[in-house]
Amino acid sequence: MKIKGFILDLDGTIYLGDKLVPGAREAVEWMRARARVAFLTNKPIDAPACYAEKLTRLGIPTEPDDVLTSVATTVDHLCAKFPGGRFHLVGEEYLRGQLVQAGMQVAATPGQTELVVLSLDRTLDYGKLHHAYLAAKSGARVYATNPDLVCPTDTGDIIDAGASIAVIEALTRRPIDGVFGKPSRAMAGAARTRTRTLPDETIVVGDRVETDIAMGLEAGMRTALVLSGATRQGAEERGGYRPDFVVPSIRELPRVLEEQ
Ligand SMILES: [Mg+2]
Repeated sequence: MKIKGFILDLDGTIYLGDKLVPGAREAVEWMRARARVAFLTNKPIDAPACYAEKLTRLGIPTEPDDVLTSVATTVDHLCAKFPGGRFHLVGEEYLRGQLVQAGMQVAATPGQTELVVLSLDRTLDYGKLHHAYLAAKSGARVYATNPDLVCPTDTGDIIDAGASIAVIEALTRRPIDGVFGKPSRAMAGAARTRTRTLPDETIVVGDRVETDIAMGLEAGMRTALVLSGATRQGAEERGGYRPDFVVPSIRELPRVLEEQ
């Protein structure tokens, strides 16, 4: 099998908290010697440079351009769709800054809000959710950076954007208008602009079936599930998504691909 591009998830695939998954550095070196490698994360709270710095510190030298986050795809798509649009954010400072820098405006009131953006927010409070609800009720479009209910951190899982999506969907009794991180087509397309490869010569490697593997399969790419993170043995298939390869961790992937 000829793989020319690797799209690698970070949390649970390359590292767990502040520790590299054993063998990840060697596996990435093997991939880089043969193909283009891009790193992908749904985490919407830090800039690509932060992840590049962390990877470099852990022994995998990486440039910010090699890292794609759900914030980049969210900002690109919202700016194209609603240039200069007035938004209400349930999310953190980094995302707010990126939206404003791209020409969008913060809406002062629910009535002024054209779009609601839901994201991971460690400063979430009643006022923010109430503004989001009132805006959505009066017709504002609702988008989210990522669908994850929780986000793994060094000190355990924290509440993620999926929880705010669930609240707003329950209140409005309709699905939100779109999500831009994994498993969306937007994220898959953006990732392939980094690897510059065709879908069937690209493989997505990740630890979550419902985001990493679903994105890869929906976009016509190959997929490899690692069992070093969120997915345990016996839960390799979910919602009809079955990965092409299942390996204990990224360490074993080069050998499995060489045998193909
Ligand atoms: Mg992961």
